[in-house]
Amino acid sequence: MPISRPRRSPSTSAVVSRPAEHRTRVLVVGAGLGGLTAALALHARGIEVQVFEQAPALGEVGAGLTVSRGAQRVLAELGVLGEIRRRASVVRSNAFLHYRTGALLDGAVDPTDGSADALDDEPRNLQVHRADLHAVLAVALRDRAPGALHLSHRLVDLVSGADGVTAVFADGRTTRGDLLVGADGLRSVVRGRLFGVQQPRFTGQVAFRCLVPGELASPYVARTGRAAVWIGPGRVLNRYALRRGATVNCVAIARTDSWTGEGWTTPATPEELVALYDGWHPDVTGLLAVAPREQLAKWALYDRPPLPRWRDGRVSLLGDAAHPMLPFLGLGSAMAIEDGLVLAQALAASPDEAGLESYESARRPRTEEVLLASRHEGTLVQGRDPDLLDLSAAPSRNASFYDFDPAAQATGVPAASRDSASSAGST
Ligand SMILES: Cc1cc2nc3c(=O)[nH]c(=O)nc-3n(C[C@H](O)[C@H](O)[C@H](O)COP(=O)(O)OP(=O)(O)OC[C@H]3O[C@@H](n4cnc5c(N)ncnc54)[C@H](O)[C@@H]3O)c2cc1C
Repeated sequence: MPISRPRRSPSTSAVVSRPAEHRTRVLVVGAGLGGLTAALALHARGIEVQVFEQAPALGEVGAGLTVSRGAQRVLAELGVLGEIRRRASVVRSNAFLHYRTGALLDGAVDPTDGSADALDDEPRNLQVHRADLHAVLAVALRDRAPGALHLSHRLVDLVSGADGVTAVFADGRTTRGDLLVGADGLRSVVRGRLFGVQQPRFTGQVAFRCLVPGELASPYVARTGRAAVWIGPGRVLNRYALRRGATVNCVAIARTDSWTGEGWTTPATPEELVALYDGWHPDVTGLLAVAPREQLAKWALYDRPPLPRWRDGRVSLLGDAAHPMLPFLGLGSAMAIEDGLVLAQALAASPDEAGLESYESARRPRTEEVLLASRHEGTLVQGRDPDLLDLSAAPSRNASFYDFDPAAQATGVPAASRDSASSAGST
């Protein structure tokens, strides 16, 4: 079947009213953390949602990521926070360390490994393996909305008109909905269809990711505790305990112009990583040297300026598709999760283009601020001699980035009442 040619949607003012009995059908493209959160939150509000994911299976990919207090509130609303807490590590403090001497520059050392963490405190941040968080969300969606998640559906086109939007997939299949949300990540096809394909700027930095089994890592983390950020000129190593201490997650970010590939799964070697950190403290080079080869991956960091708008007619964006950001504050996933809840609240109030508009009005300023702050944090921690560094005004110290209440933006219901109601029902 022929693929339809892309067409621009009607303007914002062309809101089409629906018959009272019409149940809004929302198409979500991408079953990442943002797409699954949005789907669960929409389904909980009685809105029909269908999720289309290009991958043929949802598997064990990625490594650690941060779940801020704001994102935890969303997960509590969805009734899945308890399940995630059982797999997560709590961040009680971060130690910022000098790359060569190991001296404590800022923060505090937490000497425990996470294995004995209580499950009922309310930390500013959790750290969790992306695959664990993703699996909990996917299982919840399959249980609550059987048949709503469609794998092996790669969107290649969309056609939006006065009475609906059609998604076109790579194998020629099509489906129709009232609204479409592109939650299709960093290289979003939906964003390209709405606003044209924009070339991102390579920042000159490459991130390396590895998971080191706790027993191999322990000689190199014993002195500096469960979470540490090592800072040096042109390099950072952020490492923290995952899966209640069973694994140490390392993200090493280095300035280099030698490689510019994008993606989450390009293999890297321990040798290239150790060479980049030559001259650093033995706790750093020792840890990187024991990283299992098969666990090492790298990706180049690209920067995209904030989009001036996310929506065109019946189609909008969410998560990395709308606001990809550098990883220095660890808030990219949290922003996608927050987006999902606010989208659902906005569409519950107004299940049409006006709802998409109020979602964007609530979320664009917040995500733009965090995007710019992430960029600034990277410049700060990598750009100067750590002996001269003053972290007291660093964005990572700004509690409002982490301890945010996304639901209050749309509902005005205070976090405390929602938290107590929903944590009781957490699975
Ligand atoms: C495989 C993978 C591993 C990752 N690992 C880490 C990690 O270890 N640490 C970390 O901090 N962040 C990681 N991330 C990124 C992190 O999940 C996101 O930055 C953040 O969660 C924002 O989520 P998102 O839902 O907007 O985007 P993503 O989580 O990137 O999800 C986007 C989804 O859309 C799907 N998709 C893309 N294009 C299409 C299309 N045309 N049609 C249908 N589906 C499409 C993708 O397959 C993906 O499932 C990873 C992302 C992916 C996809």
